[in-house]
Amino acid sequence: MAKKEKESEVFSKGASSIWYLSEKHHLAILHKRQKEILRPKMALKRLSLFFMALLFSFSLKAQEAYIMVLGIAQDAGYPQLSCKKTCCESMKHNPSKPEYVSSLALVFPEDNTYYLFDCTPDFKKQNLLLRETQKGAELKGIFLTHAHIGHYTGLMFLGRESLSSKNTPVYAMPRMRNFLEENGPWSQLVSLQNIQLEAIENKEVLLNEVQISTIEVPHRDEFSETVAYSIKSKKRSVLFVPDIDKWSKWEQDIKSLVKQYDFLFIDGTFYQENELPDRPMSEVPHPFIEESMNLLKDLDKNEKAKVHFIHLNHTNHLLWDSKAQLDFEKSGFKLAKTGQIVKL
Ligand SMILES: [Zn+2]
Ligand SMILES: [Zn+2]
Ligand SMILES: [Zn+2]
Repeated sequence: MAKKEKESEVFSKGASSIWYLSEKHHLAILHKRQKEILRPKMALKRLSLFFMALLFSFSLKAQEAYIMVLGIAQDAGYPQLSCKKTCCESMKHNPSKPEYVSSLALVFPEDNTYYLFDCTPDFKKQNLLLRETQKGAELKGIFLTHAHIGHYTGLMFLGRESLSSKNTPVYAMPRMRNFLEENGPWSQLVSLQNIQLEAIENKEVLLNEVQISTIEVPHRDEFSETVAYSIKSKKRSVLFVPDIDKWSKWEQDIKSLVKQYDFLFIDGTFYQENELPDRPMSEVPHPFIEESMNLLKDLDKNEKAKVHFIHLNHTNHLLWDSKAQLDFEKSGFKLAKTGQIVKL
């Protein structure tokens, strides 16, 4: 019994979910080390125990679930097809790089599996990107926000002409499920059982102790509802809202949500009014980043740092203008970055 108690004192859990040696045990090791100068054999044994404990702590750390950002661009990606404006032309002359369409992966290193939040036209490349970090990771399911092209069309790669997956669970709202069941080529994924449609409304999906749930969001819902995803482990919470018309149309208060969640990836499609000189922006409403920053300006530094803008349109200068990016950094808000990892 006494021996067991001693073992339990070896580790204490830090706030950042990393496991540390407890102070008491650390002091005990130091004290014993003084005596062990005279007893080299014992010292060797103690040292090997210490390194075993250290190894154990690293293996625990490696098993933690995490979120990885797989893309930050609006539905049509960056650069956009045939765009001859500075935004996409500038790619030829400066170090800006192509950006994949916005998507998150929820990764479970313990069984080397992952789930996608939105399945984009860049799915193939995003799968490769993920596997650079998580070798051989296997796709276990997909959560869809809505039926605009950047958010679900990657499903085509699960079909007969490509992976031909077997009953990959695809979580979606009722109209979204109906849209996939009733319209080709998506209906073929259902009839050939490449995908298995799963309800996501009014429930929590529990994956290895990570809770996934939806919050409905006002958006141009021509083909389906639109949802935000809430992803909560026992230690951290993440909110994903890639598309929304305006914060004022939502029954949720974004300011309160920033306080509730540890990490937020929110709609940063456009930076400001008049960004699309050739068409009325009311046709494609989104909260401008300027508006969002103004709405959240009273938050303290730590809270502002939780807010990460994602789903940037090619016209949004934060995607390609390094000077604008530097100025934006001073605001305290963040831009989501492809490859960024959030430990859960
Ligand atoms: Zn979108
Ligand atoms: Zn462009
Ligand atoms: Zn949309």
